[in-house]
Amino acid sequence: MRSHLTPEEFRKQGHAIVDWIADYRRDVGKYPVMSQAAPGDIRRALPEHPPEQPEQFAAIMADLDRVIMPGISHWQHPSFFGYFPANSLLSSVLGDFLSTGLGVIGLSWQSSPALTELEEVVCDWTRQMLGLSSSWSGVINDTASTSTIVALLCARERASNFSLDRGGLQGEDRPLVVYVSAHAHSSVDKAALMAGFGRAHVRLVEFDEDNAMKPDALAREIESDQRAGRVPCAVVATCGTTTAIAFDPIAAIAKIAATHKVWLHVDAAMAGSAMILPECRALWDGVEGADSMVMNPHKWLGAAMDCSLYYVRDPVHLMRVMSTNPSYLQSSADGSVKNYRDWSLPLGRRFRALKLWCLIREQGIAGLQARLRRDLENAKWLESQVRAEPNWRVLAPVSLQTVCVQHVPPGRSGEELDAHTQRWCEKINRSGAAYLTPAILDGRWMVRVSIGAQHTERAHVAALWTEMKKAATGDL
Ligand SMILES: *Cc1c(COP(=O)(O)O)cnc(C)c1O
Repeated sequence: MRSHLTPEEFRKQGHAIVDWIADYRRDVGKYPVMSQAAPGDIRRALPEHPPEQPEQFAAIMADLDRVIMPGISHWQHPSFFGYFPANSLLSSVLGDFLSTGLGVIGLSWQSSPALTELEEVVCDWTRQMLGLSSSWSGVINDTASTSTIVALLCARERASNFSLDRGGLQGEDRPLVVYVSAHAHSSVDKAALMAGFGRAHVRLVEFDEDNAMKPDALAREIESDQRAGRVPCAVVATCGTTTAIAFDPIAAIAKIAATHKVWLHVDAAMAGSAMILPECRALWDGVEGADSMVMNPHKWLGAAMDCSLYYVRDPVHLMRVMSTNPSYLQSSADGSVKNYRDWSLPLGRRFRALKLWCLIREQGIAGLQARLRRDLENAKWLESQVRAEPNWRVLAPVSLQTVCVQHVPPGRSGEELDAHTQRWCEKINRSGAAYLTPAILDGRWMVRVSIGAQHTERAHVAALWTEMKKAATGDL
């Protein structure tokens, strides 16, 4: 077999690609933030059939520039204010590259001991950085979606006394119920449905004017299900909701969960990163009372996608649910090695710990904290600007780095206001100057300004604010 990419050729192409990425990161601010591509543009520019003969790597790189780049929305752009910050610091890019370059797979401890043991270490480092007690054990998953489905499977098996050893959920005579806030992420809903609870057994608990779950409403729902002969199984509390970064009151929820022996899973996918700042930890007060928690270093913290940390209080329970190799349980008790396949859904695992290790070491806790504090201050600054401007509103508490805004021209309301909001937001996105995501809050469209890309400085936020005023008042 002929291969172009011998290690020597790889060295050449690899250096060229590192240069390419370095140029890209240096110049990313020059691109329109949101891709200007129309649906189908990229597909049409690509051949319908795979090449019969080998191609030169340089030809692939040429197509990267010609075909792929126009279809990229630039998450690393300093004027990226959409969705959530998905920072991919270059140290973690190198870690990810090393992982791919090593090309190892974690199937068991023995299949690459360092893969398992570095994962243990970075999960524990991160636990310490978040200010969590040593009673938590972590594992790296691809996404929070995976972690949350694992959490609900563990909850299901605890509440059903291991129904999986009998007829599964299908063999239970009393339905199990999951409780979430209506502001929970769609992945929570999906996890509950995929774990077999059924739509009829997912309760959307009422929330207050700050979009946080009402504990008394949760208690009422649980008691009403108990009276009806159903089994309250799990509550998912969100620490930093997607739309407005709201915080469910975890301490109060944990108390209710403990009283009713309900599993508490905390979804801190986005806001978990903030907990490396001691001054933010009051926002998840009570987290020590949870059974499981997920946070995504691949969001604000700076690890390249994908890197989601799932922490549990009772790893033996997790292994009992996830292991298909019960004889393994005996060796797990002695704690000499971990087989992470028994901590999650997939068998094969990437060496994701490397990118988190590179990130934490290269930044230091101080470096990570300084960047997050900068972002918090920028959000506060924007909030004060918006509040001081006539006809502009801040719609939700600015607890972290997301500011939810609306421009309300005099006399404009209802669907007319919705149309106005979507129009000015779309104008900015189409212009390429910045990228914002509109969302519905309290039944009306508003615009989320999610601050926290690695290179977003005050000047970028100030420029955005100027654009927003221009777009909303018709000067753009
Ligand atoms: C981003 C986010 C998720 C989904 O994360 P994935 O890792 O993409 O599955 C879930 N919950 C919250 C609160 C989030 O912010």
